[in-house]
Amino acid sequence: DMIAIFDLSACLHEMVDFMYPRFLEAKINLVVEISPGLKVEGDKNQLKQVILNILNNAVEELCDLPEERIIHVSANLRGGRIGLEISNNGSQIPAHLLENIFEPFITTKELGTGLGLSVCKQIVEKHNGKINVTSNEERTIFSISLPQALEKT
Ligand code: ADP
Ligand code: MG
Repeated sequence: DMIAIFDLSACLHEMVDFMYPRFLEAKINLVVEISPGLKVEGDKNQLKQVILNILNNAVEELCDLPEERIIHVSANLRGGRIGLEISNNGSQIPAHLLENIFEPFITTKELGTGLGLSVCKQIVEKHNGKINVTSNEERTIFSISLPQALEKT
């Protein structure tokens, strides 16, 4: 894999653009608040995979929601670390699932692999980051924190 300093803000915009046709098709309203120039050191393609997995799950969750469907993507600096949040409205994830959601082969989907989030966790931790999920009746939020890369000059 390729280790380098890259612009996570640009990656996030790229992945949101890539998913845009699916957001349109599923009638999802998108709110994007990404601070520019957030730099991370690591494997850009792996972190793109993380973003895509989480966005994919959000779309799958929203597909049958009878109310307005909303995905929110935000990223900014928080105390020297990068905080990234991807949330969707939708139904609350039950506690027993929430506890195991990052374990491999945990799925509620007929054709699901249950591998997406376990891969996300592995990749984020490899980058000295943390991934968390919270879920209530209003929304489900996946939060990732990553060290901010310091530009070498
Ligand atoms: P898969 O998508 O193949 O089921 P994942 O590891 O990506 O595997 O997700 C595991 C499970 O976590 C899903 O089957 C689903 O039950 C739950 N899940 C993931 N993301 C969300 C979300 N945004 N809202 C509700 N449930 C979710
Ligand atoms: Mg998935």
